[in-house]
Amino acid sequence: MDDKEKELLETNSDKTASPEDGGQGKEDHYEKVCYMCRRPESKAGPMVTMPGNLCLCSDCMQKAFDSISKSGMDFSKIQNMPYMNLNLNDLIQIRPEDMEIPKKQKIKKKTGETKKLSMKDIPAPHQIKAQLDQYVIGQDQAKKVMSVAVYNHYKRALVDWRQEAKEDGVTVEKSNILMIGPTGSGKTYLVKTLARLLDVPLAIADATSLTEAGYIGDDIESVVSKLLAAADNDVERAERGIIFIDEIDKIAKKKETNTRDVSGESVQQELLKLLEGSVVEVPVGSNQKNAMTPTATVNTDNILFICGGAFPDLEKIIKERLSKKSSIGFNSALKDEFDNEADILKHVTNEDLRAFGMIPEFLGRLPVIVTLKSLTEDMLIRILKEPKNAILKQYEKLLAMDEVKLVFEEEALSWIAGEAIKRKTGARALRAILEEFMLDIMYEIPKDPNIGSVVITRPYLEKSGGPLVQMRG
Ligand code: ADP
Repeated sequence: MDDKEKELLETNSDKTASPEDGGQGKEDHYEKVCYMCRRPESKAGPMVTMPGNLCLCSDCMQKAFDSISKSGMDFSKIQNMPYMNLNLNDLIQIRPEDMEIPKKQKIKKKTGETKKLSMKDIPAPHQIKAQLDQYVIGQDQAKKVMSVAVYNHYKRALVDWRQEAKEDGVTVEKSNILMIGPTGSGKTYLVKTLARLLDVPLAIADATSLTEAGYIGDDIESVVSKLLAAADNDVERAERGIIFIDEIDKIAKKKETNTRDVSGESVQQELLKLLEGSVVEVPVGSNQKNAMTPTATVNTDNILFICGGAFPDLEKIIKERLSKKSSIGFNSALKDEFDNEADILKHVTNEDLRAFGMIPEFLGRLPVIVTLKSLTEDMLIRILKEPKNAILKQYEKLLAMDEVKLVFEEEALSWIAGEAIKRKTGARALRAILEEFMLDIMYEIPKDPNIGSVVITRPYLEKSGGPLVQMRG
């Protein structure tokens, strides 16, 4: 029994009813307090008193049972648990020293089962990029930078760099990545594709749900729990996975605030240790730590962290900085140029990100910055047609099962792309738009088995005409 447990035991036995005093309690004015959640009886409802005068509220009791059953407890051994099948009359006879408080279960590292990573498992950067090209349209610079960063990251993961550093004094630092790009430009998609190609587990977390420990929201370490779950609780596999934290711009330092910034700057602060590599104890199969949840120890040193966000208004900050510089120098003509430049994000520096509200220590742990471009009409049309699992290919396949050939006119595609641009959600709008008018096609065509092909025309999309339908034979 550790010190904390002893202390709690003492406080509980002081304050609660005990069999010796006839169950009345030595000091009646003290309430019973739940051993786990620390709520008093007036708040948590009636308590179950266990040997040793430990009290549990019914919520915590239920939680404890739930987490035991979730983590695969063998119920045939239930009688070995001190208080599971107690007859309350027996309570009086059990002395506290007979009572063993269940220890937290620890998940051991699986050894031997996970294949060790070797140099031949890591494709060279040009191979990674070539594979990404099959799925992600455009964003060439981003794909190139990511391929190199990922390649270097896994090279670093292969060596015991602490040992190497002792020998030659060279440490290879972590190449965590910061991705900046508008909504729907393919940030998440790029990371998902990368993880799939490299066959490493991936966890996607939303920075807006994270809060400083102790406040309502997810603890920072919950992102590691997610990764562990994605790796089927295999700690070794999780330790070389990827964690993508989306909406990172939402945890920028709040500009004018009098209250404690528990979901902004503090989250950046708390993320620091995870990003640079540390050993964390995380609950398994749940994102909340409690006394009964089994835990695992995960080293985040070789986990690749990718943070992504749209960073609205960052363009304004960059333009301001650039035009300030050029209006002082001889190149004031450049000023207008920046105003018209479409891909202003590529000029981003740490200084701009600091002005946006990211703290320097946080930026220091994300040394690779990748920017993605807004998708143009041409890119959107290519996204419709070209990727391996392109949306149009999916519809063609579905209708081919009814032996109907589906064709999209080029003009129709440019209408769809134009519509997507208007909605300002990038490529994400494409599927929604297609779904809207493909519903009728998918409903009507299978009615008539004589239909051989359907051509989707621009007038059909503009609701001024119909699709071209051709019969078989
Ligand atoms: P965000 O940048 O907001 O994370 P996503 O990656 O979630 O955007 O993009 C939404 C969807 O749009 C993806 O699931 C993918 O199908 C499609 N998409 C976005 N960008 C591209 C791209 N460059 N190439 C191919 N598909 C893309």
